[in-house]
Amino acid sequence: MIIVTKPEATEEQIQHIVDRIVEWGLKAEVSRGALRTVIGVIGSEDSIREKPLAAIPGVESVTPVLKPYKLVSREFRGGNGSKVKIGNVTIGNGEIVVMSGPCSVETKDQITSIANDIKKAGAKVLRGGAFKPRTSPYAFQGLGVDGLKLLAEAREATGLPVITEIMDTKHLEVMEQYADCLQVGARNMQNFSLLKEVGRSKLPVMLKRGMSATIKDLLMSAEYILSEGNFNVLLCERGIRTFETYTRNTLDLNAVPVLKAETHLPVVVDPTHGVGLRDHVTSMALAAVAAGADAIMVEVHNSPELAKSDGEQALLPNEFEDLVQRVRKVAEAVGRSA
Ligand code: PEP
Ligand code: MN
Repeated sequence: MIIVTKPEATEEQIQHIVDRIVEWGLKAEVSRGALRTVIGVIGSEDSIREKPLAAIPGVESVTPVLKPYKLVSREFRGGNGSKVKIGNVTIGNGEIVVMSGPCSVETKDQITSIANDIKKAGAKVLRGGAFKPRTSPYAFQGLGVDGLKLLAEAREATGLPVITEIMDTKHLEVMEQYADCLQVGARNMQNFSLLKEVGRSKLPVMLKRGMSATIKDLLMSAEYILSEGNFNVLLCERGIRTFETYTRNTLDLNAVPVLKAETHLPVVVDPTHGVGLRDHVTSMALAAVAAGADAIMVEVHNSPELAKSDGEQALLPNEFEDLVQRVRKVAEAVGRSA
């Protein structure tokens, strides 16, 4: 149920609405806009369907939400999109943000040199994995906390805010010390205890779509984070598993306009994991921008043949520079900027 208050509703009236909702054993999430306040009623809709919510003073409208997600629904923001900040970079204000960096943080030289290259090319956020979710337990697992420290040093050197993957609830504190945004990876999209934990973090969260997750599954997972109080959430399409074997995954660009219509949360596309082949990353990045993405995330490496993970899909710095130039042209063609 979504309650929208009248523009002239007083603070007392809003509090009264919230008190009634709580009295009925439900939870109220209040979102204050310039003119109206939107109150999301969380709990079983059946139990409040009979209550005369529209009769409470100050209420303008009451809309039942038949969808299982509420806080992430576009209606919750009165049809508007949300803006999410990573450090001093805003995502969701119309300008396309490019995030980039290597798959894994490997050495100080590697991360600092790539950070400088991508910054020069126009990237606004630095990515790099310190804790890596690998299919094989014998593969490189990441540098852990040392990797976080190297990311923070690269931020110091370039001014680029840092996004990195959190794999375990016990790492939240150290992540908050070094990172500017938490990435929840595809493999953890339905790790509900991790989602609840990042939902209590002060950092923004980028939630990647699970490789076998539907769009609705992704939205429900995001709802976990918002329901703990963290509304600074980005959704990331990174490709799903299909019967196709030529590419690593199938980048589901359908998800972009669908998500933009369904939720107020900004949408990021990761064409690198989506296609998994260096030669096709740029085409899919351009397609993502044309489809309406708010940001893209692209892996870059200066010596991909030596990369400890995902070298075959990493762009070289000069290829990344070309990608950013072309992203700007597509952005302009669809009435955006980058
Ligand atoms: C990554 O960003 O390097 C990564 C592991 O992504 P995903 O969770 O989408 O596989
Ligand atoms: Mn990777």
